[in-house]
Amino acid sequence: KRLILIGPPGSGKGTQSPLIKDEYCLCHLATGDMLRAAVAAKTPLGIKAKEAMDKGELVSDDLVVGIIDEAMKKPSCQKGFILDGFPRTVTQAQKLDEMLAKQGANVDKVLNFAIDDAILEERITGRWIHPSSGRTYHTKFAPPKAPGVDDVTGEPLIQRRDDTAEVLKSRLEAFHRQTEPVIDYYSKKGLVANLHAEKPPKEVTVEVQKALS
Ligand code: ADP
Ligand code: ADP
Ligand code: ADP
Repeated sequence: KRLILIGPPGSGKGTQSPLIKDEYCLCHLATGDMLRAAVAAKTPLGIKAKEAMDKGELVSDDLVVGIIDEAMKKPSCQKGFILDGFPRTVTQAQKLDEMLAKQGANVDKVLNFAIDDAILEERITGRWIHPSSGRTYHTKFAPPKAPGVDDVTGEPLIQRRDDTAEVLKSRLEAFHRQTEPVIDYYSKKGLVANLHAEKPPKEVTVEVQKALS
């Protein structure tokens, strides 16, 4: 399967991804994770992306299309993939269609993590991450066994520098203005399944499973 997860920051895409990945043995491509790794490693890509990310704005289409094009060539991604956080503009969606068409492939399903903006500030400001695995915790909704420490490795958790109430406002603005049209783009193709992303994680997982069955 070739799946796309679309939803505003904090809607639960990263939380549901590992479950989908394990069930369908798909590769998980999260452009946000790849960009953060590039920023941390100070690669040319990371240096170009950092300013927009810190402000909560989107990185240019050319940069992200380049990293997705590269990542989709991996052998492990040939049978299918989960795109988490891409495409975020209609231009990116059109480029993705072109890349897939070259392989005679297409998008199978778009999961729309629909949720009210009002819920997202608490989710985002309470989010803690284990950077190397991508495991995500929440101080209130999914606390780690020991505060600030990953359950599996015992390594420290971090908070993302853009996970502040202030930067969230710009990220939501970018979502409504640039990414919501992508949902329309795929709706017209009949590919969108709408999820109730405000529900508890396990109920969202059940909705995901229904959408993919
Ligand atoms: P979230 O957890 O808010 O959904 P991500 O981790 O997906 O956020 O993205 C973090 C930041 O990385 C975004 O605010 C944006 O600056 C950049 N980014 C990630 N994916 C894309 C993309 N497909 N197009 C442009 N910018 C992107
Ligand atoms: P996204 O990848 O869409 O930005 P995450 O999956 O990282 O979102 O979730 C954002 C925060 O909210 C995390 O701290 C996560 O633990 C928490 N969270 C995720 N899904 C739910 C849910 N259904 N109910 C409550 N909290 C959730
Ligand atoms: P159990 O102990 O029954 O296996 P979990 O440890 O998976 O349950 O989750 C305990 C509670 O935390 C559940 O109510 C669930 O809704 C919530 N929860 C689990 N994972 C997350 C997450 N990533 N984000 C937010 N809430 C979560």
